[in-house]
Amino acid sequence: MLKHTIVYPLFLLTGFIALLAGIFGGSFAWFFVVVLLAVGITAWGAFDIRLGYFTPTFFQKKYNAEGRIALTFDDGPSPYTTEVLQLLKAYQFKATFFCIGKHVLAYPDITKQMIDEGHTLGNHTYSHRKSFGFLKEKDLVTELEKCNSIIYQTVGKIPKFFRPPFGVTNPSVAKAVQRTKQQIIGWSNRSLDTVTLEEDKIVERVCKKLKAGDIILFHDTSQRTVNVLKRLLPYLQKQGYISVSVDDLLNLHGYEE
Ligand SMILES: [Zn+2]
Repeated sequence: MLKHTIVYPLFLLTGFIALLAGIFGGSFAWFFVVVLLAVGITAWGAFDIRLGYFTPTFFQKKYNAEGRIALTFDDGPSPYTTEVLQLLKAYQFKATFFCIGKHVLAYPDITKQMIDEGHTLGNHTYSHRKSFGFLKEKDLVTELEKCNSIIYQTVGKIPKFFRPPFGVTNPSVAKAVQRTKQQIIGWSNRSLDTVTLEEDKIVERVCKKLKAGDIILFHDTSQRTVNVLKRLLPYLQKQGYISVSVDDLLNLHGYEE
């Protein structure tokens, strides 16, 4: 498996050899190839959460999913969450909501409703800063702990699951989740519901590669996503899929004991 703990020493070694070859041979071409590869693989590891390059991540249930999938919603709660909850209830589906701490403060009743209706809450940082990928470990821990404590004050539970904003992982994120003892949850099926404007295309994208065990990424922050769910949920039901929470799908504890 591609892990930074294995890849970094390899790059250091090959980089050093290529540098020596450059000094004594006169051409630094191989040295630049190694540097480019190192930069490329590090960027890939940071942005593809499925790689688990910097820290272990769960992103699907590979075996024995038996028709189960996990719908997940990031960036809420928002005024659109109420309709998302209504739809989930109508189809008896359970979901996992990766909430932003600030938004939990703004919509405490919607947050409580998530729990009352049997859904799971995860941490998606306190403020979802655009600079998330560049924050230091200390600031990341503050972002995580602040969100945990708001969720605890609102629903009496401390989430074990964390989804990094933008799906970014790096050594600082890895250390921060180690300190807060949380588990990173990624996705295997990405709706792109915040960037694709046509609802048809979003539905098509999700369904095209859908398989049992998938963790599907949505955002409960727009009417567009609500409209997509109105079409997707009956389709899922017809195909025999059932949405469960991430803890159920992966057989993990969703909250601190
Ligand atoms: Zn987000």
